[in-house]
Amino acid sequence: MADRDALATAVRESLSAHPRPSRRGPPPPLHDGCALFLDIDGTLLELGPTPDSVSVDAGVAALLPVLAGRLHGAVALITGRSMADADRLFRGLSLPIAGQHGLERRAADGSLHRHLPSLYGLERLRRDLTEFAARHDGLMLEDKGATLALHYRQAPRLASHVHRTLRSHLAAAVASESGWRLQPGKGIVEVKPDGRDKGTVILEYMEETPFSRRLPVFVGDDKTDEYGFVAVTVAGGWAVKVGRGPTNANYRLPNVAAVRKWLTALGSRAAGRKS
Ligand SMILES: [Mg+2]
Repeated sequence: MADRDALATAVRESLSAHPRPSRRGPPPPLHDGCALFLDIDGTLLELGPTPDSVSVDAGVAALLPVLAGRLHGAVALITGRSMADADRLFRGLSLPIAGQHGLERRAADGSLHRHLPSLYGLERLRRDLTEFAARHDGLMLEDKGATLALHYRQAPRLASHVHRTLRSHLAAAVASESGWRLQPGKGIVEVKPDGRDKGTVILEYMEETPFSRRLPVFVGDDKTDEYGFVAVTVAGGWAVKVGRGPTNANYRLPNVAAVRKWLTALGSRAAGRKS
């Protein structure tokens, strides 16, 4: 635990809020010794206009169990979606999943771990933001329980208005409460408890069977994934950014199709070996 806390501190200190744009090559081929952590939206699946519009195609539904088999179960989904939502999306798969940016997770042994924040102030914020979203076409408030997400992908012209409004509402609603912060993403801003992120949850998995003593590999596409990139880099692993933009990751793949191809290569080698 002490080691993990020290590692989490190192991650925060290493995380650059404004990484410089740089060229990154594709990651090496995956191998049997990897522990694989995968973001969902924009990484495994193409982004949709709303979270509900995204669906899992047969290709990726078939690929994930193959990867999990090849890596002895060391495959976890790391998402901003709630765990229940991710389970709904990947119905029938029972992979380890971390939801709400690490506020909740299911370990490989099926045990559940939740870090529920103090909800003081969140009630008022929920009410205010529900009214705000109702006043503007194209805005959608998603209540995940411990986090609130305001989606504006369908109304990109409102981006700066949304960011400004959330900052002022957050200040008013939780003025006496520290420990909350805004997490920007692609067409989305989330209000989430501080101190938990995709990096801390990956480090938790890395202390457990079957992830421990493997090479951590994390693939993600958005700002919230930067925490995970730094965590696996500090732990000596591979961080793979999907798409363009500045990043702390040490490798890059251009899009979801390239991620699928890279992952499939490991699955194909597994099939080839069996035959
Ligand atoms: Mg994503």
